[in-house]
Amino acid sequence: GGTIASRRTETGLAPQLLSEDILEYVPQAAAICCVEAIQLFNMDSTNMEPKHWVKIAETVEEQYDNYDGFVILHGTDTMAYTASALSYLIQDSRKPIVLTGAQKPIDQDITDAKSNLLDSFLYATDTRSHGVNVVFGGQAIAGTRASKVRTKSYNAFSSIDFPNKAVIRDGKVFHYITGEEAEKEPVFYHRVDSKVCVLKLIPGL
Ligand code: GLU
Repeated sequence: GGTIASRRTETGLAPQLLSEDILEYVPQAAAICCVEAIQLFNMDSTNMEPKHWVKIAETVEEQYDNYDGFVILHGTDTMAYTASALSYLIQDSRKPIVLTGAQKPIDQDITDAKSNLLDSFLYATDTRSHGVNVVFGGQAIAGTRASKVRTKSYNAFSSIDFPNKAVIRDGKVFHYITGEEAEKEPVFYHRVDSKVCVLKLIPGL
């Protein structure tokens, strides 16, 4: 879902492209890996709820032994929240789980969608990559550290108080941090308490 899967409609951008449609825009992916797609939802990420995080985690668990890595296409507005939630729902994963999306739809001439998708496939197939990450704008950011900090720029995400895990340049992944998950078995959790809210303390509250 999100912009990466959106087309222009009379009422603005709407998520309409299916996984297979999206993959047709990046035939270069075949040189990196063999991709199979599972369509869980097609939605604006502002409508994501904790039950959707649980469904994504359950699907990764069901498919864990079938694939070397996972790439999840997601709207940018709440991608960092999903990345955080998945980081806790799926712990110690030696296989990379990547969230990516785009600032511009993949069917437009000028778009970051193709490079983000190809970077994600590169990162998700690199044996030194582990755990849940956001790959966006040439950076791989730990799922617990990613935050959307720019509305329009291609480098929409930053890693807060932690270095990038890797950068992806010219089809190569340069790792700064590889982590310890490689030796461990993943632990999957199945429940999120949705009765939690963040209360921002501001002057005058
Ligand atoms: N609000 C939409 C979403 O997060 C569009 C933002 C985007 O994907 O860049 O799904």
